Amino acid sequence: MGIATMGELSNDELLSRTRKLAEDERRISIEILHHLSEIDRRRAYAKLGYPSLWDYVLKELRYSESAAYRRISAMRALKEHPALEKKIEEGTLSVTTVSQVQSFLKSERDQAHRSYSPDQKEELFRKCENKSSREVTRELLTVSPLAIRVQKERLLTENRTMISFVADEALLGKIHRVRDLSAARLRDPASYPELVDLMSEVTLSEIDPLRKRVRERLPVAVSAKPDQNVALIAPQPTESLGTVRVIPQALRRRVWQEYGGRCAFVDAVTGRRCNSTFGLEIEHCKPLALGGSSRELSNLRLLCKHHNQWLAIQAYGLSKMEPHLQSRKNEIGAKVGESNKETSLDP
Ligand SMILES: [Zn+2]
Repeated sequence: MGIATMGELSNDELLSRTRKLAEDERRISIEILHHLSEIDRRRAYAKLGYPSLWDYVLKELRYSESAAYRRISAMRALKEHPALEKKIEEGTLSVTTVSQVQSFLKSERDQAHRSYSPDQKEELFRKCENKSSREVTRELLTVSPLAIRVQKERLLTENRTMISFVADEALLGKIHRVRDLSAARLRDPASYPELVDLMSEVTLSEIDPLRKRVRERLPVAVSAKPDQNVALIAPQPTESLGTVRVIPQALRRRVWQEYGGRCAFVDAVTGRRCNSTFGLEIEHCKPLALGGSSRELSNLRLLCKHHNQWLAIQAYGLSKMEPHLQSRKNEIGAKVGESNKETSLDP
């Protein structure tokens, strides 16, 4: 119906059509959540060169960060509690509310180490039915103070981000210890940015393969042999691999430099390169089992965790790989949480 003819509708027609459209919208929302869930299961976003479901939803589907966050967290909730589907469809629970409760449960689990039984979770969702976002926050606050987001990353200008989080006593003690021991190197009193910068420098000089003075703790070469699927997900310590599989230290550094410390996966259709820096591993282009070499730069490339998984799924099949992919949930969840810069602006 065009806008021009809308004026001809009676009031009753206008109201009933709008009601019908809202119902359709809720049904489509659920359909989208189911599709996202299946895309996540298959790692299908990796096919298009995206390093995560988060990037796919943001860049390919063009949702805002807050909309992407709500959908991904509602998708997780729906997977865990299929009964929520009917409530979203009826409109007693919105995608926003479901996502709010799901994020709350995640904070409770990750930050307060408090777990809820399936019944307790369902009871919490039930208590939040037919409530506005503000009312849901109030409801969750009666359960735990973690209902208020305690970790935030907010972009202030192009090169300034405000980071805030809550530190427990132990962490605060460690930060103060760093401050005291670094008094000679830093201003007195050292600011938090200075302290975090110092800690980052010390850590990176130890673990960043792109830096010269890196110690012997680089990602381990992985084998693409079918009977060693697990190695693709959780690389074994160097000692347990045959010497032929070990990539010499200097060569590893060259691989990292060759790809600029970023994932080398390129979508053949769009030419989009992934470029992710998350969970990078060195991959053999031609598997060792098929005679590929660990000694030639041309046979080695850098791939992010999700592209390693995507290629493994293509090589060995989803059913065989799926059991090894289960641990991914928390990592992706954490990533979504970290990247979510607009939660405080949620409607
Ligand atoms: Zn990648």
